[in-house]
Amino acid sequence: MTLSDITRLESKGYRGFYEKRSGFYRLININGRCVFLSPSNLCLIYEDRPLGCRAYPLIYDEARGVIVDSECPLRSEISCEDLYKGLHLLELVLREVELTYNYRINWGLFEKSAIKLISKCI
Ligand code: SF4
Repeated sequence: MTLSDITRLESKGYRGFYEKRSGFYRLININGRCVFLSPSNLCLIYEDRPLGCRAYPLIYDEARGVIVDSECPLRSEISCEDLYKGLHLLELVLREVELTYNYRINWGLFEKSAIKLISKCI
């Protein structure tokens, strides 16, 4: 999560929803489920969900760059519009991640993998 996500959610009154794991702030999981996921599998903070959730199923992999998460059951249905939106959001997330965590993104790899992803849309 980015600090903007945390600030935004706290300003809405949410507390105790994140923890630091492996050097990054992350949503708390309970029994493998996000703390904001309802028993009927709905996001309880959908309008305010973190940027990374908005970019999903696009994720950043250190070795491969931007990819569509192979675990997403809807990965084959992602539209070109979704891809463009997701890439924009993921870039915002990663720029903030760099600033917050002093973590270096390989922007050359990001660009190369993004071009590969959108090549089917051009
Ligand atoms: S969209 Fe994000 S915040 Fe909402 S339930 Fe899923 S992982 Fe949690």
